[in-house]
Amino acid sequence: MNIVQGHIGWLEVICGPMFSGKSEELIRRIRRSLIARKRVEVFKPAIDRRYSDGEIVSHSDLRIASQPVESAREILERLEIRTEVVGIDEANFLPDLTEVAARLADMGKQVIIAGLDTDYLGRPFDPIPALLALAEEITKTLAICVQCGGPAKFTQRLVESADLIVVGGGGLYEARCRRCFEPGSPRQQELDFVKTKLARVQNARP
Ligand code: ADP
Ligand code: ZN
Repeated sequence: MNIVQGHIGWLEVICGPMFSGKSEELIRRIRRSLIARKRVEVFKPAIDRRYSDGEIVSHSDLRIASQPVESAREILERLEIRTEVVGIDEANFLPDLTEVAARLADMGKQVIIAGLDTDYLGRPFDPIPALLALAEEITKTLAICVQCGGPAKFTQRLVESADLIVVGGGGLYEARCRRCFEPGSPRQQELDFVKTKLARVQNARP
């Protein structure tokens, strides 16, 4: 078929909780692109220095070379113009990724993004919701609930902190199903409630 000509851009998103195989799936797709002899570049946020700076490492120890970036904008600055496939892991740590990903796809790149779809309280985790709306293809991965063996959709934080981002893997987080997930401690939820209430009061002021 000769209908499709030139470079057609494309945005794929792989999302789910921690330990669900997002990095494994991203690595698998990138390896296939390399086998197809495509020009590939992979990026990850510099904030995630858990295992290695210069590569993405899955929890099952699969690895692929990647460049650390401070922001999504930096991907645009660094990108080699001839690159055909752009892989991005831990997208939930790149709040400015939505516009950048759309721009890359518009430029004709195949963009493959992996990231957490919900945070430690089970709330949609920006920028993944917007990326899902823009994507041509979406894959949702599930982990195994460490408590009951059921399908795990949630990331349970095991340490107490009101910060949205606490970087870490096993020991700090575990995968849980809907029944076993305990979203935050009462104190954290109270804190959110107080913050919302305060914002409302401040907005209501003349
Ligand atoms: P993600 O990127 O979603 O955090 P990874 O691709 O890094 O996930 O790791 C997935 C691998 O983690 C699995 O193939 C398995 O070997 C391992 N693993 C550890 N704990 C779990 C769990 N609770 N459920 C599923 N896989 C797990
Ligand atoms: Zn469970």
